[in-house]
Amino acid sequence: MSENNFLELKNIYKYFGDVKAVDNISISIKRGELISFIGPSGCGKTTLLRTIGGFNKQDAGEIILDDENIDALPPEKRSTGMVFQNYALFPHMTVYDNVAYGLKQAKVPKAERHDRIMTALSQVELRDHGKRKPSELSGGQQQRVAIARCLVLEPKVLLLDEPLSNLDANLRLSLREEIRRIKEKLNLTVIFVTHDQEEALSISDRIAVLNGGVIQQLDQADRIYNYPSNKFVSTFVGQANFFTGHLQEGKEGLYFDTGTVTFPVERLQKADGEAMAIGEKATVLVRPERIKINTSSPIKGKVVNTIYNGNFTRYFIELEDETVLVDAFNTMDNKTYQKGDVIGMELPTSPHVINDTVS
Ligand code: ATP
Repeated sequence: MSENNFLELKNIYKYFGDVKAVDNISISIKRGELISFIGPSGCGKTTLLRTIGGFNKQDAGEIILDDENIDALPPEKRSTGMVFQNYALFPHMTVYDNVAYGLKQAKVPKAERHDRIMTALSQVELRDHGKRKPSELSGGQQQRVAIARCLVLEPKVLLLDEPLSNLDANLRLSLREEIRRIKEKLNLTVIFVTHDQEEALSISDRIAVLNGGVIQQLDQADRIYNYPSNKFVSTFVGQANFFTGHLQEGKEGLYFDTGTVTFPVERLQKADGEAMAIGEKATVLVRPERIKINTSSPIKGKVVNTIYNGNFTRYFIELEDETVLVDAFNTMDNKTYQKGDVIGMELPTSPHVINDTVS
């Protein structure tokens, strides 16, 4: 087995009646990798996770884990530990007994059990909380117990279904760090389902963006953000401005012409790696922070709204009949603009060409 395909999903399909929840998904996951599945509600991320864990049976395709086809195995025999959104701890049992439960089921001898429980509790930094009941713990601590309960069974893959969604913002941030720390320390392979794109960007080695049961893009976070493969990924992860136009060549070099604005560009590359031809039509993506406010730019627009975000301000700028978003980083003394101001915008010379043209 190569370390690069520790967990392999091969052409997985899953139907619920007429609904194709998972539509021919294939992924190879490395040992020790943390992959997030993200996408809008109903895109199939939970179904795919449950299929890996054995809680659903796929209608077609194979799942190979560590060189073994696990399709015929029930969840408890798969070496996949699943942590659910609502923790599913036993409320009447202590933390220690909650963690012990799976080991007892697996008939692990008592002496070995104790060592493994204490190790798992240490891994989530709850060694001193074994005697408490779940109701005596914070939400974040309860979620760590749920993780310990999986870790104690030494799974080859940890499956996390929106594990942080019941927690407040600060706890979410610290538990994200914790999950990454545990994953690094144990070289654990983790699949993380979330609908929160920012969470996925910050925690993942790679992200699979799903829509309609299909993987739209599987890539590292910065690639997903900077080089999304299509319009869907561009808008699902981050804010997007699209400009549809033609590449042209003039006396001063290449420029992009949308009919409303023109701006100089370098040689633009399409998603397939080919250079765009002169005269060719395309849609380019420009993230709001890549537009510079520059009074001498000939591209002028009127500020129609502003949102102050602390470290940056988002401007909504009317440009003909479109609204362009511009994010300006705030320093203590930078100039800010108000509704009604007219500002100049400098567009980047190497915008990202996306596959589908936006009409
Ligand atoms: P969410 O973010 O809302 O949890 P999701 O991306 O996890 O969404 P899934 O729960 O995987 O989406 O659902 C994918 C599709 O399959 C949806 O259309 C859903 O209605 C359908 N579906 C999921 N589970 C079942 C089920 N047990 N019976 C019937 N249809 C189902």
